[in-house]
Amino acid sequence: MSKPLKILFLISEMHPYAKIGGLGDVAASLPKALLKMGHDVRVVIPRYSSIDPDHYNTTTCLQSMGVWMGDKEEWCSVHSTKSADQVPVYMIEHGLFFHREGLYHDNGMNDYDDNPRRFAFFSRAALQLAKDISFKPDIVHANDWQSALSCAYLKVWHWNDPILGDAASLLTLHNVAYQGIYPKDHYNYIGLGWQNFTQDKLESYGKVNFLKGGIHYADLVNAVSPSFAQEITAPGGGFGLAPYLSDKKESFVGILNGIDYETWNPQTDPHLPAHFSMEKLTGKQKCKQELQRAFDLKVDKKVALIGTVGRFVDQKGFHLIAQAIERILGQMHVQFVILGSGEGDLQDYFGNLPARYPRKAGSYIGYDNRRAHLIEAGCDFFLMPSLFEPCGLNQMYSMHYGTLPIVRATGGLNDTVENYNEKEGTGTGFKFSDTSPDALYYTVGWAVSTYYDRPKHIRSMVRTAMKRDFSWQSSALQYEAAYKRAIENKKAFDTKSKYYW
Ligand code: ADP
Repeated sequence: MSKPLKILFLISEMHPYAKIGGLGDVAASLPKALLKMGHDVRVVIPRYSSIDPDHYNTTTCLQSMGVWMGDKEEWCSVHSTKSADQVPVYMIEHGLFFHREGLYHDNGMNDYDDNPRRFAFFSRAALQLAKDISFKPDIVHANDWQSALSCAYLKVWHWNDPILGDAASLLTLHNVAYQGIYPKDHYNYIGLGWQNFTQDKLESYGKVNFLKGGIHYADLVNAVSPSFAQEITAPGGGFGLAPYLSDKKESFVGILNGIDYETWNPQTDPHLPAHFSMEKLTGKQKCKQELQRAFDLKVDKKVALIGTVGRFVDQKGFHLIAQAIERILGQMHVQFVILGSGEGDLQDYFGNLPARYPRKAGSYIGYDNRRAHLIEAGCDFFLMPSLFEPCGLNQMYSMHYGTLPIVRATGGLNDTVENYNEKEGTGTGFKFSDTSPDALYYTVGWAVSTYYDRPKHIRSMVRTAMKRDFSWQSSALQYEAAYKRAIENKKAFDTKSKYYW
């Protein structure tokens, strides 16, 4: 192995401490894979009030840490613990910022007004922590807009710092639809200098744009799948960021996420009533029955059972499902289960669906990890019609659990699912391209007719899907290579320009 790296990993969610979506899964599994490779990786997250420090055996690492922001000093404390996988985790405790009902928004899905301050502070505090515990990182790995500004602070504030001065930065874009765009009234607090409030750096139509700033200052940027990396640099792509990403040239790459085979393993999953493997699938039938009971569906091992899990936001295409599902339920011999939460009209719609299709449709509105695992395991098909998808983990979980994904061919969904070839009987799922309820309806019909008419093909596809390697191993190696490139880029930058102030 090459020289171990010291990696400071900043992220706003981490399973099992705080998770809304796939970001939390990546925070748990990528550092774990890097640690296994011998790197010294430390994860920093906010201490949200939903995280009970006692439950996770945290100790107080810093009783009182002063963090200079642009126009004031904040005070916080820091807890530390080790994850079940022995990854050191630091939690920034700031009651005013992080003790509230949600991570980013209230129960009504309204973003907190002070999010720019909360996450600018978080980014600064994580760097201050490195200084206060004398952890000299080779690389600061920022994730999404919530920690993107750490890349800017490194170049603007810490260019001459004995602990942070040599640290290179990598910014991972898990989702470019969320950029952290806020009124410039917050800019003095953020404190990155008005000379940097320019269109090429942090300014966007008179507002401050965290992600854009991070992209500018990071030594390397990556998206979480090769296809998505291409899509967001295409003209008009990237939700306005395409030109800035294209400007990064070879310093912008795509690295596909992996999945954690210890947490998501049908042979050991503690959330399942029975276990199964590619060789012995009988346990999957038991999971199907349990799922049917849990969602009050008719227990029937022969019926095609379609499920989905996710955040009810535009990106995930749940409105396409809402527009097609009644035709599907009305005309096809299927059952349907859905687990999710988010936009109110979708919650109402899917919450009421079982009453109109009793014993055929089941829903659970809310967040429930056990049910998520049960759906992956017990269904025959997993529906994921995302309008865009940076990577997507659920389709990989479903394939690993022998549940064939029905997906829109976009981003990471396109990279990971091999479309069914009816002639050869090959593939790992069913894909469609149009963002229309019709396309979804016909592709579900295609999958369902294959299920009943060509069961041999389905059995062979299930085996192929379960055999696919989505482990973190190869992705973590690519991250290691990306860190090295970021370090080279930083060295080259330092010899040329040194600092940005
Ligand atoms: P995204 O990160 O865009 O939300 P992914 O497919 O990458 O989408 O990851 C979603 C993750 O969040 C999966 O682990 C999924 O099981 C989990 N998840 C999403 N919604 C829920 C929910 N309502 N209950 C339990 N788990 C959920």
